[in-house]
Amino acid sequence: MRILKRKFPRSSPESRDSFHDFPLLDADACVKCGLCLPHCPTYALHQHEGDSPRGRIALMQGLAQGELDPRGSAVQHLDGCLVCRACEPVCPAEVPYGRLIDAGRTGLWRAGRRPSALWRLLAAFRRTPRRIAVLERLLLFAHRSGVIGLFRHLPVPRLRRLAAHVTRPHAAPKPGRHPAKGERRGEVMLFLGCVARPLDGRVLHACVNVLTAMGYDVNIPAAQGCCGAMDAHAGDRETAQRLVTANVAAFGGDSEILSAASGCAIVMRESGDASGARVHDVMDFISRHADALPALRPLHGRVLVHQPCTQRNALREGRPTELLRRIPDLEIAELAWRDCCGAAGSYLFEHPGEADALGTRLLASITAAPDYLVTSNTGCSIHLARLLREQGMAVKVRHPVELLAESLGV
Ligand code: SF4
Ligand code: SF4
Repeated sequence: MRILKRKFPRSSPESRDSFHDFPLLDADACVKCGLCLPHCPTYALHQHEGDSPRGRIALMQGLAQGELDPRGSAVQHLDGCLVCRACEPVCPAEVPYGRLIDAGRTGLWRAGRRPSALWRLLAAFRRTPRRIAVLERLLLFAHRSGVIGLFRHLPVPRLRRLAAHVTRPHAAPKPGRHPAKGERRGEVMLFLGCVARPLDGRVLHACVNVLTAMGYDVNIPAAQGCCGAMDAHAGDRETAQRLVTANVAAFGGDSEILSAASGCAIVMRESGDASGARVHDVMDFISRHADALPALRPLHGRVLVHQPCTQRNALREGRPTELLRRIPDLEIAELAWRDCCGAAGSYLFEHPGEADALGTRLLASITAAPDYLVTSNTGCSIHLARLLREQGMAVKVRHPVELLAESLGV
């Protein structure tokens, strides 16, 4: 690792202050064995030690100890991490890599590092429930009026790319209580997300329809906001914590809080607040209470199940395959490809080249095109749907709960 550190500029003394609470003990648990390297998608792309988990841990150690400059090139390697956490379950020393990279990026944020203008524009719309409602209305208007189509021809690549991902927005379910149908079994709360709200509008309606058909009241608190994932991953810990506190107040009581997006679920689960234990992937809840599902009608077609990194490596719950196998006549297979698809929160906009390379590798692993590709995370869904469209593959990308709703006829 000395060789790696020597390639990067020396630090100014204040860098140590920015990293004052970096968990060096956790980083020191890394024995530099390299067993995580073959599992890291960015190392597979670049074959550079700085783009591997081991290299990034060494760089963060250098930054925290004041040996490296937070304005130097080490930053690009930390920026380039997908936070897919594929390196965590394979680490024999159980290094909590997710915690390290969030703390490392917090240090960089304090040292003045900021994401792109597009990120900041979206962040401005995510910060309060009222602004999220404005964003939802703007996206729906832009889609219905055709403005979003014009954006796809703008000479601004980032805006063009953003517009290419907005294809079937739909208004999210209204806040309030959506009563159970038939015999009442209990109550759950539904998390709507922020940018995901219009992009996943149909998915969120499917959640309400399936859960109420199972006998659960679905309570959607109006005061809920963004989970703070994009802020936490960018290093803005203060804003992320503020958003967590607001959501904790909004989701009072003791009912389970269900999220259709595994990326949001894991951030709320690991927020450090006691309510995190109540947060679950919606498919996990439905699996645990599958006896409450009304009769499922046959659906026809071949389904390939994609498991988002946040679900497989971090949340470690909500595998939809068994549940979908209950739908008569549907052919179910799991995607063999395990690497991150490249969506990774705002990564698909911040690192378009790498994101598309990773997504294309995933699609290239599909030998027989299915009718449906199902995935449980908004970012993965819009990223893979765009790539499939661009490659001329007629595959519908859906959330597993949408297939359940269709099979239930709700
Ligand atoms: S993170 Fe874990 S697997 Fe990777 S080099 Fe360090 S100890 Fe080895
Ligand atoms: S989180 Fe993913 S991209 Fe980042 S170092 Fe680990 S395996 Fe590589």
